[in-house]
Amino acid sequence: MNPLVPYRPSRAIDEVADFLADPVGPADFPETILRFRNDRAAAEVGLETLSDAEWIAHFGRFEPLPGSLPQPLALRYHGHQFRIYNPDLGDGRGFLFAQLEDGQGRLLDLATKGSGTTPWSRSGDGRLTLKGGVREILATEMLEALGVETSRTFSIIETGERLYRGDEPSPTRSAVMVRLSHGHIRIGSFQRLAMLEQPDELRCLAAYVLRHLYREDPGEEPALRLLDHVVRRTARLAASYMAAGFVHGVLNSDNINTTGESFDYGPWRFTPHWEPGFTAAYFDHQSLYAFGRQAQAIHWDVVQLAIALAKVADIEALAPILDTFPERYEQQHRAAMLRRLGVAPRDEPGDLALVETIERGLAAGNVTIDRFFFDWRGGARRGSSPADEVYARDFAGFADQLSAYQGTALTHPYWQDAEPCSMHIDEVEAIWSAIAERDDWIPLHAKVAAIRRMGEAMIT
Ligand code: AMP
Ligand code: MG
Repeated sequence: MNPLVPYRPSRAIDEVADFLADPVGPADFPETILRFRNDRAAAEVGLETLSDAEWIAHFGRFEPLPGSLPQPLALRYHGHQFRIYNPDLGDGRGFLFAQLEDGQGRLLDLATKGSGTTPWSRSGDGRLTLKGGVREILATEMLEALGVETSRTFSIIETGERLYRGDEPSPTRSAVMVRLSHGHIRIGSFQRLAMLEQPDELRCLAAYVLRHLYREDPGEEPALRLLDHVVRRTARLAASYMAAGFVHGVLNSDNINTTGESFDYGPWRFTPHWEPGFTAAYFDHQSLYAFGRQAQAIHWDVVQLAIALAKVADIEALAPILDTFPERYEQQHRAAMLRRLGVAPRDEPGDLALVETIERGLAAGNVTIDRFFFDWRGGARRGSSPADEVYARDFAGFADQLSAYQGTALTHPYWQDAEPCSMHIDEVEAIWSAIAERDDWIPLHAKVAAIRRMGEAMIT
């Protein structure tokens, strides 16, 4: 299809499908109106040359992609939701539609949300609200621009149904989403096999993840290797959420990908201020997944993975790997904060002191996270708002500490803007209101363009 990046279909899931998945079909939607096609992501997998009609046939009607899965598969999984084990999960409103390889030979999944009911729908309707789809575009684009490893929103097609939801004015519009990510094997996928006492399948799934998603030979001890990778990647994920000011909202073990790639966006928010108690989900009454508790929450989920893997590996060997999480997190946290600031790391005590000063200053609440990183990007103050006194007082000593650091050059015009690009809840709601009230999609597309421009500025 694309002469530059070839389309490389895969059916790797065949190795594990008999114990991991059930063949399903899509809902027959009354309408399929293309609302968002991610041509940037499509170009990376050789699919951007599809016409709109072909796009809708594949990502709204789910006609198989040549060479990939002949039929969608709903994946089976369990998981802890707010620390309570739930054996009744699984793809209840989505399925794995197709698999591809990226340029490095790593496996990618094209998976859906809102594509209809499956054996795992329980009392749910199998549908996604259009607002949910629009919110996922905004979350994934912003996270990608800020350097967080995330699933990409590949396609949103409006499906012409009226949905009833407790958390949106109803009836509300419906959509089907396709997301692109490196696999959809969650911690909960392993928990299920452990619960069902299926050690052979557990080993087989660990080998699948190592082979296709970590691109290495599973070797003699796949469980130990896998845990080591997952600890490393999820520690990095937690750290990158903090530097981005992102609150995922529902860090249940079924929402943690074993690649450490962020995915499944429901009630997420970006916190304007460095407020550890900031909670995204209205149903998170204990603030279990608050901004400042995300590392702890993800670590807890990874402990559940280790418990599952203990069915096939020695717990004495798993435990020390698990224990590296806090240290790896701290290291990644420093790295992520310095990366966003646009300065090169120096030495551990100095970096730690610098990050502590930043967090103390931000916690005073007079400067938003986005504003701070924008003003000091590259290691020197730019702009004039807020007043110098605010930085001198809340961030006492910061300018001196920072003077020892080497900053990146700010060549991109974004850095001359008056305001940083941000994604606070009022902006999200305004973008949705334009769609809901006037069917005006311009603010959404303008925001995606602005986010991508910031993303370019962050890497140039
Ligand atoms: P989530 O909170 O999106 O990670 O979903 C948790 C579980 O509930 C998963 O098993 C989902 O497939 C299922 N689920 C959520 N919403 C629906 C729905 N509208 N219809 C069917 N299943 C759903
Ligand atoms: Mg989920």
